[in-house]
Amino acid sequence: MSITIHALAENKRGSFPENIRFGTVFSDHMFTQVYDEGSGWRDARIGPYRKFSLDPAAAVLHYGQEVFEGLKAYRRADGGINLFRPDQNMRRFNDSATRMMMPQVDEAFHLESLNTLVGLDQAWVPDQEGSSLYIRPAMIATSPKLGLGAADSYLHFIITGPAGPYFEQGFNPVSVYIADRHRRAVVGGVGEVKTGGNYAASLLVSEEAARKGFTQVLWLDAVEGRFVEEVGAMNICFVYGGSKIVTPSLSGSILPGITRDSLLQLAPVLGYEVGEERLDIHRLLADIEAGEVTEVFGCGTAAVISPVGQLALHDRVHEINNNLPGPVAKRLFDELTGIQYGLRDDPFGWVTPLSSVADCPAPLRSQTG
Ligand SMILES: *Cc1c(COP(=O)(O)O)cnc(C)c1O
Repeated sequence: MSITIHALAENKRGSFPENIRFGTVFSDHMFTQVYDEGSGWRDARIGPYRKFSLDPAAAVLHYGQEVFEGLKAYRRADGGINLFRPDQNMRRFNDSATRMMMPQVDEAFHLESLNTLVGLDQAWVPDQEGSSLYIRPAMIATSPKLGLGAADSYLHFIITGPAGPYFEQGFNPVSVYIADRHRRAVVGGVGEVKTGGNYAASLLVSEEAARKGFTQVLWLDAVEGRFVEEVGAMNICFVYGGSKIVTPSLSGSILPGITRDSLLQLAPVLGYEVGEERLDIHRLLADIEAGEVTEVFGCGTAAVISPVGQLALHDRVHEINNNLPGPVAKRLFDELTGIQYGLRDDPFGWVTPLSSVADCPAPLRSQTG
């Protein structure tokens, strides 16, 4: 498979505002390819960022047959660019597609396309501390058909956009509202894949939390409303006695985060004990009150680590570490971002420098359109 490239004669913008609101500014180019039942994937191309034309009957618009991914490109001090475990995102994209009855994408080709796109728009990878280029691959069902059933045509695309530091006011804890009536996902459902409906379904509760003065929602299991699942669109970790990190085991309704997996591998190397367990919220709140849980934090690509300072169930607020970021969260944040930005050794081989193909824009730009 090959990619046709129609690059703009020059980048529209190599510079952008310092405080970009996440997900509102997009780079010059995008990748697209289309799928038809008979012919498979075809027409892979990178061209200027543009609007789509979709049939109003397109299946995605009615039944939400869609999957997506989220990863970042990081600017190194030497000017180069790193991706972090992109193979894991490519694999998860296909896992999501399988669950949503969508076609598989060749993982190596997906990664090559992403690489080429980021290489072409490398001027958009910011170099301020803590900033990055956010990369959003997605696939949608485009068949114009209202009868319920898997579509037979699809559009796969990748867009990117600069993202400022997640913590504009420093590494500050968030306040979390425990959803007591609504559930994010059920075992056997689609909570463990990245599909749009999960996020649409969470908006009502986020709004309820915001109205009560909280910034994030903690989700409990759907069967008993007792076991901790996730926080917002992040996985969650609890620190016992400053040395043991526990996170809910993958229950079938928890999204298997790549940041979560990375922390589970990295933390033992740094001397922490780690565990994956079924975690009862009442037990956790009691352990917080007893001072045994010393830190709570969310983890995901966007923030890497997001300390939690308050957890509220019904009207009772439980404060963690005096609502201050803790040393374990800070250490893990520094170590993991250190690896991502190429400031620390990478013993796990997680970092993929942007390939030389993408680093050499001259031949690729020759097909200017
Ligand atoms: C994407 C996501 C995560 C975090 O996954 P990472 O691979 O670490 O970015 C966690 N929970 C939900 C619901 C997600 O969508």
